[in-house]
Amino acid sequence: MTANWSEASEAVRQAKSILIVTHISPDGDAIGSLLGLANGLREMGKQVDAAVDGGVPLFLNYIPGQETVLGELKAGQWDLMVSVDASDEERTGEAGKFGRTHSTQVVNLDHHATNTQFGNFHLVVPEAASASEVVYDWLVYMGHPVSQASATALLTGMVTDTLAFRTSHVIPRTLMVAHDLMAAGAPLFDIINWTMVSRPISDFLLWQRVFPSVKYDDGIVSAVILPDDVKAVGLSDISDAGLVSTLVTADEVMIAIIFKVQEDNTVKLSMRSKVGYDVAQVAFALGGGGHKPAAGATVAGTLDEVWAKVMPMLREVVNRGKLMSG
Ligand code: 5GP
Ligand code: MN
Repeated sequence: MTANWSEASEAVRQAKSILIVTHISPDGDAIGSLLGLANGLREMGKQVDAAVDGGVPLFLNYIPGQETVLGELKAGQWDLMVSVDASDEERTGEAGKFGRTHSTQVVNLDHHATNTQFGNFHLVVPEAASASEVVYDWLVYMGHPVSQASATALLTGMVTDTLAFRTSHVIPRTLMVAHDLMAAGAPLFDIINWTMVSRPISDFLLWQRVFPSVKYDDGIVSAVILPDDVKAVGLSDISDAGLVSTLVTADEVMIAIIFKVQEDNTVKLSMRSKVGYDVAQVAFALGGGGHKPAAGATVAGTLDEVWAKVMPMLREVVNRGKLMSG
């Protein structure tokens, strides 16, 4: 993995117009790193566009600058495109595709170990707990003081990717960065409440429909979400309402997986695992990506076909983990 801090910073210095994109189905870190950087670069006097297919999810609409994010890119030409929190080019969707062909250079800023090293300059830091932390480091590297608007965005990314500082990749430095962002005015209590605690009743109504599909077998728990389940409770089609993260907390469970059946004969997989069990390699082998404890992919086929393909792969991860732990 590489980090071309000086080359990437020089590219920003020379650029007048900059486009920032992130991954589709954006989470708190995708929007946090997007807006943390967009706000910072605008303060530096750059002309900045920020875009992600479908725009900012409702639960993140408190982040300063969110109203500037384009849900669709139809026109434009930029000196530089920066992709944040996306491990491969595909993940940046239509906005990324348009941006690539209308930008002179591309900076790839990310923290996924599965990053494919696309783009002209790389700021890929797998040790970082969130892409937002890499954006923080970059703003500091460029000598730009982090404003309250940027800090609120970046602390959002840190909080959501670490499940409020509860994951194994949190180290003392993570908390130091969070400290700096809080000191810059980011409201930690509100951010945790808005992103981690408060949830609409439709989340529970979805769980109510989905729970009968929950199956547990020797360390692996699974659940199936059908298009009708999502429609019935009026949720957006990307959400599992946090169910997979909850299922993995069961003592006996090493891996939790949700099969989200989609209308185009594909199944979206959402996986979570305990420390020592790597689901990123499974996701990567299926054409997706993510982190060891949280990864996903979209696989073509019926539920039965995808199930038959994926479950043995997860079984192998569990067996290998058992061997390693003696
Ligand atoms: P989630 O289960 O919350 O959708 O995703 C968990 C993690 O896996 C996130 O880091 C997300 O970016 C990554 N991920 C989920 N689906 C895909 C995919 O189709 N491709 C890639 N590259 N990463 C994915
Ligand atoms: Mn992230």
